[in-house]
Amino acid sequence: SKSSPPIVIPDDFEGYPLESFRITPNLSKYLQSVLIPGGFIQDRVERLACDIAADLGNEPFTALCVLKGGYLFFNNLLEKIRQLHRYRLLDNPELQDEAQQIKVEFIRLKSYENTSSTNQIQVIGIESLETLRGRNVLIVEDIIDTGRTMVKLLDLLEQYEPRTIRVTSLLVKRTPLSNGYMPKYTGFSIPNKFIVGCNMDYNEYFRDLNHLCVMNEYGKQKYSS
Ligand code: 5GP
Repeated sequence: SKSSPPIVIPDDFEGYPLESFRITPNLSKYLQSVLIPGGFIQDRVERLACDIAADLGNEPFTALCVLKGGYLFFNNLLEKIRQLHRYRLLDNPELQDEAQQIKVEFIRLKSYENTSSTNQIQVIGIESLETLRGRNVLIVEDIIDTGRTMVKLLDLLEQYEPRTIRVTSLLVKRTPLSNGYMPKYTGFSIPNKFIVGCNMDYNEYFRDLNHLCVMNEYGKQKYSS
């Protein structure tokens, strides 16, 4: 089955001016530019939902949310997948008996300190992986940088013998440190910059920001841990 390729944000794209959007001054003073406006993200998530729903067909599955960053994307994506399922069931009442049940599970992974990925990855909520045995699993992640977190999660998950594993990430960063891991369903391929917003943080700040933005040096210093 075919899934849509990621939208590539080129390396030389400087982003949109902050003044073109409504960003509160308490946040904008720490930012450089808007890399991907929130509305654009919604449009892309809609397409990802269609790609995933088409592949899953009527198979039951569990969506595994990787916290904390992944929760907003998870919520938006699942809302759209559920809507597609609702339409399909309403249009095809004969499917009712095998109606697809979407279950959800949450896991929390932590690998970041300031703006760099560390080797140590903490897993919180490991007991939720036991429920994935024999299930079709869709892992939902916010961003893949070096790919280490995802490879580690996949290794871990395989010990619980799920039926199938699919991975979606809203963003994949183009970095020389990449281990080459590329999810099947990727929203955007972005330059090697540290980004915040849309529930993605910098030491727990900037989650409220409704666009994906690049921080300025002042912001990195101000909120470094
Ligand atoms: P990886 O193990 O692939 O290097 O890192 C993946 C994790 O690092 C992501 O789940 C995310 O939490 C965090 N991360 C990587 N790049 C960024 C970034 O540009 N901004 C933010 N806020 N988090 C990032």
